[in-house]
Amino acid sequence: MNDIQSMLDDIQQETAYTSLFTGREKLSGRVMDAMGRVPRDQFVPLSQVNRAFNNGPLPIGSGQTISQPYIVALMTDLLEIGKHASVLEIGTGSGYQTAILSLLAEKVYSVEIIQSLSEEAQARFKEMHYGNIKTRVGNGYEGWPEFAPYDGIIVTAAAPYVPDALVEQLKPGGRLVIPVGLPHAHQELMLLEKRPEGKNRPVKILEVAFVPLIDHPKPL
Ligand code: SAH
Repeated sequence: MNDIQSMLDDIQQETAYTSLFTGREKLSGRVMDAMGRVPRDQFVPLSQVNRAFNNGPLPIGSGQTISQPYIVALMTDLLEIGKHASVLEIGTGSGYQTAILSLLAEKVYSVEIIQSLSEEAQARFKEMHYGNIKTRVGNGYEGWPEFAPYDGIIVTAAAPYVPDALVEQLKPGGRLVIPVGLPHAHQELMLLEKRPEGKNRPVKILEVAFVPLIDHPKPL
């Protein structure tokens, strides 16, 4: 079986296997429903279509990857997105995670540093009628101040530290989900809940392997 239902079964199974680390035996029904409604085969290159519903990452060009479905589901679940939420994503990539978010939130903003990937994703959103997504090309380390504050922020590439700008652009009580660590080294998926006052302490959820967040420091 190589279809969306087998993908959902694999996600459920991996959720159960990893529950010792994540503390979650099951993901929310809303998240699983969204995972069942977005056709992943339309977000991967033609050469990868026959693997689109496998529970693994796949290459999407420009040296980037579409994340593993289980990780997309887990990260989305950790955001606990309400119907009226405004969510920021860093790393649009194929647009698959963005599409999942768009079914759960009221507004989704997504920043991508590689122009061609951003344009391809935008074309998909238009063709597939995902109407509540705004995209831009830029450096995600800076977030997207124009539409801040956000109820949730999700980073889909690994950062060596939690960027201050992202915490600043979160509403009090908002949630930031981000893989932290160096490329090809130990990385941890972290969840940070913004406290109205006092220090925010990110909580480790699971060891992960992400492509690195690319940094383009501004010239002095
Ligand atoms: N959410 C994507 C995952 C793509 S992989 C999906 O579902 O397909 C991570 C993405 O982050 C890549 O597309 C990469 O180009 C992008 N990226 C890397 N560094 C970035 C940065 N500093 N700002 C914004 N996007 C970045």
